[in-house]
Amino acid sequence: MDFKDSIRVIPDFPQPGISFKDITTLLQNGPAYKKAIDEMKELVSSLKIDVIAGPEARGFVIGAPLAYALGVGFVPIRKSGKLPYETIEVGYDLEYGKDTLAMHTDAIKKGQNVLIADDLLATGGTISTSVNLVNQLGGNVVGAAFLIELTALNGRAKLPGIEVFTMLTYE
Ligand code: IMP
Repeated sequence: MDFKDSIRVIPDFPQPGISFKDITTLLQNGPAYKKAIDEMKELVSSLKIDVIAGPEARGFVIGAPLAYALGVGFVPIRKSGKLPYETIEVGYDLEYGKDTLAMHTDAIKKGQNVLIADDLLATGGTISTSVNLVNQLGGNVVGAAFLIELTALNGRAKLPGIEVFTMLTYE
């Protein structure tokens, strides 16, 4: 199966010059979604993982089924103000503006091996902020797994020392 056949590319979304990789067309295709999660499970099979952390919202649709397939826990990384219990927060710069990601203070136990999962690695801002949060909670980031990597943006450079796993790449 060529996964790229199931991913819709939308030019100039959300702004001119951006070629948006729309994974909703893959998610709505049951066999393609299942195969994507099964293949991601294989990609990370060498790792010892206690828990997967995924940033909202598309990190949930990749991270949670992967956690289920591996039989490990899943913890959400959310935008500020969404989590009900005590949180830690880290701000980061977007291309235009700023955002803040948060995790519950008890989401990760010290020393747990954490895989961070998201749909897509672009500039790496979202994932490096996620790594920062997990590290602050005492977690040990064993890798970062993505359905898609936009290689031209070199997001890997923001993840020094972290093993990066991607299923599909686009220039
Ligand atoms: P980064 O922080 O620049 O690496 O951007 C990654 C985040 O933006 C991920 O959480 C993605 O869900 C989202 N994102 C950026 N570009 C795209 C795209 O082309 N398709 C889908 N999501 C995208």
